Amino acid sequence: MEESNYESTMNILTQFQNLQQSGMLSSVENLKKENTDLIRIVNDISHLISLTQVDSMIDFLCSRFLEYFIPDKLVFLFQPPRKKHLRQYVYRRLVKTDENISTDCFSYIKEYFDQNLTQEQSGDVHLFSEIKDKLPQEIVDETITDINPLFVIPLIAIGGTYGIVFITNKINDSEYTDSQISYISRIFSILSITMQNGLHYESSITDAKTGLYTNDFFFQRLNSALSSIKRYNQSAGVLILDIDFFKKFNDTWGHLLGDKVLISIANTLKKTLRNEDCIARFGGEEFSVLLSQCTQDSVFKVAERIRKAIEKMVIYENNTPLKVTVSIGGVIIDHHEFLEPRQIFKKADQALYYSKEHGRNQSTIFKLGLLDLAKMRNNDFDFLEEE
Ligand code: GH3
Ligand code: MG
Ligand code: MG
Repeated sequence: MEESNYESTMNILTQFQNLQQSGMLSSVENLKKENTDLIRIVNDISHLISLTQVDSMIDFLCSRFLEYFIPDKLVFLFQPPRKKHLRQYVYRRLVKTDENISTDCFSYIKEYFDQNLTQEQSGDVHLFSEIKDKLPQEIVDETITDINPLFVIPLIAIGGTYGIVFITNKINDSEYTDSQISYISRIFSILSITMQNGLHYESSITDAKTGLYTNDFFFQRLNSALSSIKRYNQSAGVLILDIDFFKKFNDTWGHLLGDKVLISIANTLKKTLRNEDCIARFGGEEFSVLLSQCTQDSVFKVAERIRKAIEKMVIYENNTPLKVTVSIGGVIIDHHEFLEPRQIFKKADQALYYSKEHGRNQSTIFKLGLLDLAKMRNNDFDFLEEE
């Protein structure tokens, strides 16, 4: 019995040695590793294609890199459709920074990629050292030296290169492994498609002049807010802003400066409100805001915060400081009253009209009178339709 045990152990050892000598075991190890790499990339790609917002795609990518490797710098430059300015995202050690890098290099690198690559090569990883000599020396010296990229990745659509990504060496200076390079190349070939879709989607729901949401998108968000208000007994607020005497401003200072005012107001709104609030350009010089989860009191406070921030804004015309004010009308959407978006706007408009009629540069929040409340309790909303 003991002997046969010994024999079978020897047998197994011999077989093990044979497998090792034939390279079979290391092949299995390699296959296991490749399998782990493939599972990683498949999981990441399926998550990536579920995202619609450009910011969340980049956030996701950084969070995945963080588990795998940390480049000293990671820079994304995009040319969004219909926009003059490039959009940039600068990460140091995968932490987002407010750093503004010079984007002069974009058009030169874009030109190189447009002339030498096709759309199928979108997302390919290129060594920067290989294209460096093909760019004007001063561009390399002045703008790219600061980034010091190891890899450059073009994002190419039908119309040409719309994005360039720079990846530097890792923070510990170790070399990127083959599987890391293959991961980067695979994820970027997918990102180049999802990003293009994301940029187009964003441009379809935003106003080209101010970057704020469009009317249609605002109503989509309002409708979904109304559903959750009903379901979870919440409340929300809607504000409408209208610039005071804007026609006179345009007539005096010209439409171009008027446009500058619209852009400044949009930026002030973005800075003053929370990310989850929806800000839209409602018409020429009117804006609307959907405030999630707020009370009658806080709707008024937010309206006043916005009004005061706009009142403080200064727009310069040849050193002449110019100012504008806005009138605001607001309404609270409560789970007790199930109003249609049209009725909500009617109320906000009435409040805005009150602000305009009572001297402008002020905020009014619509309040129902007792009679109105009684009518609503009887499900009689007709009074909101009256002109
Ligand atoms: P009120 O205080 O009553 O609101 O006076 P108002 O002059 O602002 O009147 P209204 O709200 O009717 O103003 C509309 C003006 O807004 C007319 C137009 O000159 C200006 N406007 C609308 N869209 C744009 C735009 O895209 N750019 C510029 N510069 N002006 C615009
Ligand atoms: Mg108006
Ligand atoms: Mg106006």
